[in-house]
Amino acid sequence: MRKNIVAGNWKMNKDYSQAIELINQIKAGKPNTTTEVILATPFPYLAKAVELVAGTDIKIAAQNMHQAEGGAFTGEVAANMLTSIGVNTVILGHSERRAYFHETDALLANKVDTALKHEMTVIFCFGEELKDRQDNNHFNIVEYQLRDGLFHIEKENWKNIVLAYEPVWAIGTGETASPEQAQEMHAFIRNLVDKVFGNEVAENVTILYGGSVKPDNAKEIFSKPDVDGGLIGGASLQANDFFGIINGI
Ligand code: PGA
Repeated sequence: MRKNIVAGNWKMNKDYSQAIELINQIKAGKPNTTTEVILATPFPYLAKAVELVAGTDIKIAAQNMHQAEGGAFTGEVAANMLTSIGVNTVILGHSERRAYFHETDALLANKVDTALKHEMTVIFCFGEELKDRQDNNHFNIVEYQLRDGLFHIEKENWKNIVLAYEPVWAIGTGETASPEQAQEMHAFIRNLVDKVFGNEVAENVTILYGGSVKPDNAKEIFSKPDVDGGLIGGASLQANDFFGIINGI
């Protein structure tokens, strides 16, 4: 049986004391479910976050990392820096990284390889822009993003992969894909994984939906058979909203 996951992507929000407060609130009030909860905090708080959630089942993730092992890359963060502080999960390919930091599918393929080499779990994000959907090109875009950025991996590495479908037009806009649109795309994705890697991989991979998920729409989206949870931006910054979403599964 595949895992349900709710992951909070804090993006570039919260100062240190606010971050600690939110982690402590989540730790204290997290609904008691089998759903895995992941918090992707900004880099400067990761080590403290790991310390704060020690002994709980909450996991801490990075929002990005560099593909190189280390060296002269001013301002960047390497995989072993993350794993050496107990961060074993990383979000790669978020649409904001693709759009504002020019991350290409080829670059992401390298980042995926580095993360897997370090036995990290990758939350691999992808999704079409509004014009792609208007042009009825969304299935093609998603297929290319997966084939070019991820599908070069070995079959046994899928145990370390979580997929996150995030239509760009629904991120931070208040505009959510309808539960039917989400299900349609998630079924397409699972079918694609099945075609390339086989049924066992496809049935076991967790596919998250992301884009304006809130407590009042989470339940309906998560009720769809191929939606295994969510990657949450804005609504992960407030403990009660985040709990409402976790309870939606
Ligand atoms: P949102 O962001 O929930 O604020 O739309 C989702 C994401 O970017 O992961």
